Amino acid sequence: MISALMPTYNRADLAFERGEGAWLYTTDGRRFLDFAAGIATCSLGHANAHLVKAISEQAARVMHVSNLYRVPQAERLAARLVEATFADSVFFCNSGAEANEGMVKAVRRAQAKTGHPERTRIICFNGAFHGRTLGMLSATGNPAYLDGFGEPAPGFDHVPLNNMNAVRAAVTPETAGVMLEPIQGESGIKAADVRFLQELRTMCDEFGLFLAFDEVQTGVGRTGRLFAHEWAGVTPDIMSTAKGLGGGFPIGAILSTEAVARHLTPGSHATTFGGNPLACAAANAVLDVLLAPGFLEQVRERAALLDTLLDGLVRDFPDVFSERRGLGLLIGLRCVPKAADVLAAANQADLLAVTAGDNVLRLVPPLVITESDCHEAVKRLTQAAEAVRAVSPEAVS
Ligand SMILES: *Cc1c(COP(=O)(O)O)cnc(C)c1O
Repeated sequence: MISALMPTYNRADLAFERGEGAWLYTTDGRRFLDFAAGIATCSLGHANAHLVKAISEQAARVMHVSNLYRVPQAERLAARLVEATFADSVFFCNSGAEANEGMVKAVRRAQAKTGHPERTRIICFNGAFHGRTLGMLSATGNPAYLDGFGEPAPGFDHVPLNNMNAVRAAVTPETAGVMLEPIQGESGIKAADVRFLQELRTMCDEFGLFLAFDEVQTGVGRTGRLFAHEWAGVTPDIMSTAKGLGGGFPIGAILSTEAVARHLTPGSHATTFGGNPLACAAANAVLDVLLAPGFLEQVRERAALLDTLLDGLVRDFPDVFSERRGLGLLIGLRCVPKAADVLAAANQADLLAVTAGDNVLRLVPPLVITESDCHEAVKRLTQAAEAVRAVSPEAVS
């Protein structure tokens, strides 16, 4: 089939026409359990009544005015995020990569405006994923993603995750900060150790560096806390988030301490669409649900149920799954056969999931999944594992 879309994606031959909670329906009548959630994005599932109402009502009033004017919906959203986190202020944008770009700009700017214009370099980690803009490709550092796109943007140094000696050795007089995902998502659900995060915090304080967390995927309730770093008790100077924030509506955010944010004076950074009334109405509706008493507790309960069920699956199919990883509803199952083959079998069993690096099958369901959704998902994964076992007895690792 010849498509008018550029060939940038390997798409499954499925098209969905509607959804409800954790379920998606194809145009030809198949019903899928959605443990992909638009890549950890549809935090409230599909067609959530509260989110739909907020978006439709806002769309009928005013969608976009630009940042030439006050945007009350953005002011409210920022105030709620500040109230709920370490941050003193928030900048809204439209995607994860854009949030990370702004975060790196903010870190460099804060160094430059406090007497250290030479401090421009950011320490990043092997296996990181920070997005696909020219700058964030460099921060990501994955050679496959850089291929054919010219000289990588300068200013990013890569070291192994969870290796404090390597981090210390990488610090130079030009280092401005350290950027990392508390749990690496795209490269296979690999967590930074709590101890490592604590030591990074101490080192940043010691050398006057800024600690920047990329919580684009781990944020907004995904791990069972509002932000994943809360589990470690380590607070960054600045943080990005995006995926789950709009419940499927595009929005990104940079949350920052005053020490960094005060240098982003008028004209220093901007976006046309960022923080418009419609996007912020969507994110406010998501927060209505996430911040309601008991909601994150329910996410942790669902996660605990899935952990138990999935540990059983790994025990029953050691020839298909070698390990369960992750935290909350950011789950990785390391596969023995090719993860892509396991995903194909899951799709055959009418279950959607995502692959990640390191031969991992990633399960990132909507945060609103029910107990019965959890049981159903593991039933379908069992079917998938049986199918994979039947066709491909030999392992890849
Ligand atoms: C998805 C992701 C990004 C990129 O977000 P986009 O919205 O695709 O630009 C950046 N960082 C992390 C950790 C991500 O998971």
